[in-house]
Amino acid sequence: MTYDLLLMRFGEMAIKGKNRKRFEKAAMAHVLTILEAFPRASVRKEYGRFYIMLGGESAPAVIKELKKVFGIASISPVVAVASELEAILHTAASFMGSQTLPEGTTFKVNARRVWKDFPHSSHEMNRLVSGPLLRELPSLKVDVHNPQIELRVEIREDQTYLFSEVIPGAGGYPLGTNGKAMLLLSGGIDSPVAGWSAMRRGLEIECIHFHSYPFTSKKAEEKVIRLAHVLSTYSGEVKLHLVPFTEVQTLLTKAKQDSLMITLMRRAMLKIASALAEQNGALALVTGDSLGQVASQTLPSMNVIGRATELPLLRPLIMMDKPDIIQLSQEIGTYDLSILPFEDCCSLFVPKSPSTNPNLRIIQKIEATSPELTQEIEAAIVGTRTMVLRPGVQPPFNEGEEVIQEDWF
Ligand code: ATP
Ligand code: MG
Repeated sequence: MTYDLLLMRFGEMAIKGKNRKRFEKAAMAHVLTILEAFPRASVRKEYGRFYIMLGGESAPAVIKELKKVFGIASISPVVAVASELEAILHTAASFMGSQTLPEGTTFKVNARRVWKDFPHSSHEMNRLVSGPLLRELPSLKVDVHNPQIELRVEIREDQTYLFSEVIPGAGGYPLGTNGKAMLLLSGGIDSPVAGWSAMRRGLEIECIHFHSYPFTSKKAEEKVIRLAHVLSTYSGEVKLHLVPFTEVQTLLTKAKQDSLMITLMRRAMLKIASALAEQNGALALVTGDSLGQVASQTLPSMNVIGRATELPLLRPLIMMDKPDIIQLSQEIGTYDLSILPFEDCCSLFVPKSPSTNPNLRIIQKIEATSPELTQEIEAAIVGTRTMVLRPGVQPPFNEGEEVIQEDWF
């Protein structure tokens, strides 16, 4: 079947109340960025809905991208036809005939006369459309309560729309409608998923990555740039702040508190991230923590680490199981990058037995007796490099640097 348009519906929450206009505007901006890659397609807004006129673009390809638009509950591919009975009946027959219909497939016609001058009522149309279908397609059976296929027929003045498929959209809230947060983006599996979850909930995200160059390689950095680039396909643009963390880490090792190293590092990260949040107008930090996953993510650890910032610490994955996080990372397209075997800054300094129950007072004492720590944290903030990543634009890797070989994938 060749589809003429796509119908995009908003989630319940997004269409109600005084926020509707703001939500629609944000989602429209998101749609328009995505449609840049499909020049023949265009968009039209109606109450609680968007229509994408495909103009010959392939429906599956456009749908695949539009599934990234947050705040959209569902998408239906639509066939449009003149609002005349004969034309509608003819198209309904080819619409249903193009589907695989095993014996006994249940269906119903759900017609809606939006254009009141159309000569047949909604009720009549249900009968008029389903009658010939039942005669022509003997495997069909009517079930008005719980049909496998519901053929919707929307009769409008300009055209009549036929559709049955309802493809789930990304859900959540339109991009950026809930403010901005900084995502602590490592090269792991979890934090990109946390970033996507935050974006899905209407947060604009800027990424922060801590690297320990030259202890960590440029490949490790490239991996993070690529991850941020994937995230940008969900938002049209993502900023990535690369923080030089080597000096802070080196200094922390001098405290000779092996088991507290991770706690100290995480706290330093949160302090730097909080400063960057303030500089960039963000009101929260997002991490990929998941309760109990590693030593730094036990409740006592998170308690001590979290006190390093006054900003709300958002942990979208906190109650999720690893297999579900992995599945999400596959769905959003970050998994293959995340599992590339390049070292993260923390793995280099990871002690043999990190504390699962760090003592806040000891931590605070170590930090207080190291005046250089504040200086190094300050220097890391000042030394931060920022790049902007956009979908379809090659990320700015350093000239002449080795790049990740395609055959890694
Ligand atoms: P991930 O898969 O996201 O790396 P993880 O399970 O490996 O998570 P940790 O390495 O303990 O867990 O990191 C916990 C969180 O701390 C990460 O999800 C991320 O938000 C943040 N984080 C860790 N390392 C870095 C880093 N080098 N740069 C930025 N954020 C980091
Ligand atoms: Mg990690």
